[in-house]
Amino acid sequence: MSELKGKQIPSGALNIIKTLQSNGHQAYLVGGCVRDLLLGLEVKEWDITTSAKPDEVGRLFHKVVPTGIDYGTVTALVDGGTYEVTSFRADEQYVDGRHPSNVVFCADLHQDLSRRDFTINALAYDPLADDLVDDHNGQADLKKKLIRAVGDPVARFSEDGLRSVRACRFAAKLGFAIEKGTLAAIPKTLATTRKVAPERIHDELVKLLAADRPSAGFELMRQTGLLKLILPELEHCLGVEQPPNFHKYDVYWHSLYACDAAPKDNLVLRLSALLHDIAKPDCKVDDTFYNHDKVGAATAENILRRLKFSNQIFKQVSNLVSHHMFNYTSEWSDAAVRRFIRRVGGPENIKDLFALRLADTSAMEREIDSQYLVELQTRIDKIIAQQHALDVADLKINGEDVMLQLNIPAGPRVGQVLHTLLEKVLDDPQLNERETLLKLIKENA
Ligand code: ATP
Ligand code: MG
Repeated sequence: MSELKGKQIPSGALNIIKTLQSNGHQAYLVGGCVRDLLLGLEVKEWDITTSAKPDEVGRLFHKVVPTGIDYGTVTALVDGGTYEVTSFRADEQYVDGRHPSNVVFCADLHQDLSRRDFTINALAYDPLADDLVDDHNGQADLKKKLIRAVGDPVARFSEDGLRSVRACRFAAKLGFAIEKGTLAAIPKTLATTRKVAPERIHDELVKLLAADRPSAGFELMRQTGLLKLILPELEHCLGVEQPPNFHKYDVYWHSLYACDAAPKDNLVLRLSALLHDIAKPDCKVDDTFYNHDKVGAATAENILRRLKFSNQIFKQVSNLVSHHMFNYTSEWSDAAVRRFIRRVGGPENIKDLFALRLADTSAMEREIDSQYLVELQTRIDKIIAQQHALDVADLKINGEDVMLQLNIPAGPRVGQVLHTLLEKVLDDPQLNERETLLKLIKENA
């Protein structure tokens, strides 16, 4: 009896395996789901591997989507769940080090398992026969908490340079160590990793950033030379000392620990925490880092563009980095609070900015009383409840009015006038009345 007997497996996965087997094919759960079942972790994706070819899989199920047909993967929708069903594959040729260039199907589960990256990912399980196939001692490595390449690590990382990044990602995700030989292979195969498509690195970084402690993965990357390839700007933060009255870590460790402290289900916050001080090495003059927030916003954007993050993500991160140095005191006037809300780009961003501040300060010398954030939040809530204008769109007049009033055509001047009015309204919300604003336009013309 295997360790997995009696574990909960969704009916969709069981039915796919049953259907494939009753049609004369082999079929197993494989990879991450078997690993996570053995570890007692929640399983997110149930992947199935089969001797059936993709077109045969397509014929056996009503609803299938050829999601990765070039690599032999179809997604089957069964019993309300989606399952990736992949045909047994043999060793791939990674001619350019980027993508598998030549997918070869095979009839043998063992061959399929031997092309997989790590022993703990090379486990297959047939839940109908309770047959756990563990050709590479994956269960032993799970017990020892080790990430170990299947076969010769240098050969495997030379085939696909993403695997070394994945080793760091799995180590952080699972709280495992990388086995000595596997770890030693990483610096030797950096030339292959250099050729990996940035989109593939992106996907691994996203998964690393969802770990409990991404710092463990980034530090492994630094020790093995991967960080220099992927995020050299972060490596430059190592050894950049900060004033000891506030900081006990250099900029590198402060960034990693701030990242760990940010909420793990929020990619934007994890990235913002990791990159909020990224420009400090460039901005350091004695013990000050003048303008590192603004310079850092641009650097963060460049990094995230390079790493293929979406526009939406790098814009949000860059905005948070740009504003992370706000310095609230009780003396702020209501107008100052309104200007702050406007500058940061609205209440949603403020919530994120405060979460970033908490992550940032938790990685400093000592706990900082965050009562001031509660006070500022209360004042912001009050201002928002008052529905005072915080944006040009909230003004009781619009561009048309400006054009008519000043008898000018559409153009940049109209926007300038509206912004001047908004500044006045931020100072004194009572001015946001149509008649008053029309009068102000004339007076200021
Ligand atoms: P996660 O839960 O994080 O998704 P996972 O093990 O499912 O972990 P995936 O990236 O989804 O990881 O890959 C699924 C499986 O495919 C892996 O368990 C592994 O067996 C195999 N695999 C994925 N990428 C590679 C690769 N680059 N080289 C070899 N095998 C790989
Ligand atoms: Mg997976």
